[in-house]
Formats: sequence, structure tokens, C-alpha cells
Amino acid sequence: MTAKIIDGKAVAQALRDKVKVEVAALEKKLGRKLGLAVVLVGNNPASEVYVRNKTRASQEVDIEPRDYKRDASITEAELLGLVAQLNADNTVDGILVQLPLPDHIDATRVLNAIAPEKDVDGFHPVNVGQLATGLQAIAPATPSGCVVLAKTVRNSLAGLEAVIVGRSNIVGKPLVQLLLQENATVTVAHSKTKDLPGVCRRADLLFVAIGKPEFVRGDWIKPGATVIDVGINRIQGEGGKSKIVGDVAFNEAMKVASAVTPVPGGVGPMTIACLLSNTLYAAAMRAGIKPAKL
Ligand code: NDP
Repeated sequence: MTAKIIDGKAVAQALRDKVKVEVAALEKKLGRKLGLAVVLVGNNPASEVYVRNKTRASQEVDIEPRDYKRDASITEAELLGLVAQLNADNTVDGILVQLPLPDHIDATRVLNAIAPEKDVDGFHPVNVGQLATGLQAIAPATPSGCVVLAKTVRNSLAGLEAVIVGRSNIVGKPLVQLLLQENATVTVAHSKTKDLPGVCRRADLLFVAIGKPEFVRGDWIKPGATVIDVGINRIQGEGGKSKIVGDVAFNEAMKVASAVTPVPGGVGPMTIACLLSNTLYAAAMRAGIKPAKL
């Protein structure tokens, strides 16, 4: 058996196309462009790449990216001042602060200062709480993308055994809530889980977000399972060339599962597409307009 490769790039493109149509319709109603403020502190090369990708993707769907690049020497008070200014700016629909922040700044304090209705990363405790209690909320982009990808190969997730490996605030924990909304039966595994291979083998839907290259092996996977690999790990490939791999041994998974996301080209592209979708949602909600169903 060879699994289907879930093409995250194509699914993300389709989502961006829908977002673009809805952005145009909403901008017409509001009489202005939607704006996404992206705050980057310092010059971490990886962060610069992420910010560039987010800026480019926003432009593609006609959301106006506003880049706020600040020197690493910015004080916490100054950064909080910038966030307050963006909160008050009616033409800013979404605010994201690229992590990591320099050590002298309390990242939690900064993220919690973002107005929840503009928190397009979905990290603010108000959004976390609303998601957990089943209220309208902005959900973090990566787990949202995982659910969209799983649904491209499963008509319904209801009643399926879902196992999530990893319990971070940005992936594993919000994914629990999103899968419960889909009526899956959810197990969360982490570094203290006993018999991790056995737990994984129970999964009809296996989500892995641990940051360990090719950690989950083929014989941990239930035949016919859907495998969504969130991990992004840079390793030395053949000939000393570096390459990106996921948290799942892809070639092994392909022989057992029914569908697998590749790395790169799986969850990664969905994260940015869902971020844009969140910006559209945030703008509509703030304007009191029913958000489009994408
Ligand atoms: P964190 O480091 O915040 O969390 C890792 C989680 O994995 C923890 O819950 C940890 O358990 C668990 N874990 C670590 N080692 C093991 C192990 N041996 N067995 C079982 N569980 C283990 O990571 P993130 O959630 O931020 O990211 C995870 C991966 O996903 C990374 O590779 C990251 O680059 C990638 N990522 C990709 C995104 C995308 O857009 N595609 C977006 C975000 C992340 P414990 O809690 O017990 O310590």
C-alpha cells in the first residue's frame, strides 16, 4: 500500500484564493483595505524569512501588510506602546508579533497586550479560553491548518481516534479543541507518555508536533491512518547538504498510512493561509459582519 500525499501547497493555494475573494468583498463593504501589522524585533534570520513570507502572502490576497521592524534594543515599554498604538488604529485588522523576542522582553506580556479581536495568531488568553469553551474565537493558524488537511482525505472526523503527539500552546493544545469540535476522540501524548508507539498505533488520525526529526516510525502507525506531520527539522542530508524533514519517517509512513503530509509542502503552507483567513475573520467580526465560511 502506498499512501496518498496530502498536497498542503495546493490546499493552501485554494484557501488563499477563497480568502482573496472574500477580502475584496469585505473591503468593498468597509470602504478601505484590510491591514495586517507584523512586528519584527531584531534580526533573527529565520524570523526575517517568516515575516517576508507572511508579507508576500498578504499582498497576494490584497491584505495590506504593515511591517514594523524594530531594533533589538527596543525596551519592553516601547514595544507595549507600539502594540497599544496598533490596537487603537482602526485600519489595522490583525496584529502579529513575530517570536522569539529578545530576552529582556517578556513575550507573554507583549502577546497579552494585543487586543483579542486583532490577535490573528490566536495566542491571547481570551481567544484560548473562548476556543476551549466552544465560543467564537480566533484559533491558532497551525492547528487550524492541520484540521483542514485531515478533512481533505476524511469526509468526517467524527468518532475517529485522534492522537496528538506534542502539547505546546501553539500546536498540540489548541488542536485538542479543534478536534473535539469535529467530534473526534482525542488523546494527547508528550515526553512523559508511556509506550508512545502503542498510543500512536491507536490513531486513525495521527498529528505529530514535537520537533524531533523522523522520530515517529512506520511501525508506530496504524494501517490506513491519516498522518499529519507538523515538525520542521533541518538535518544534514546526503553529501553534507542540509535538508528539511518532519517529525515522522516519511518513507516508512507512506508504506502503512492511507494519507501523509510531506515536509516541506504539508502543514507549513497552511499556517500562512490560515493566518490570512484569521485576518479576514477578525476584520469581519470587528465590523459586526458575519464572517464568510471558507
Ligand atoms: P515545543 O517544543 O513547544 O513542544 C514540543 C512538544 O513535543 C512538547 O509537548 C514535548 O513534550 C513533546 N515532545 C518532545 N519530545 C518528545 C518525545 N520524545 N516524545 C513525545 N513527545 C515529545 O514545539 P512546537 O509545538 O512549537 O513545535 C513542534 C514542531 O512543529 C517543531 O518542529 C516546529 O518547528 C514545528 N512547527 C511547525 C509549524 C508549521 O507551520 N508547520 C508551526 C509551529 C511549529 P513535553 O510537553 O512533555 O515537554
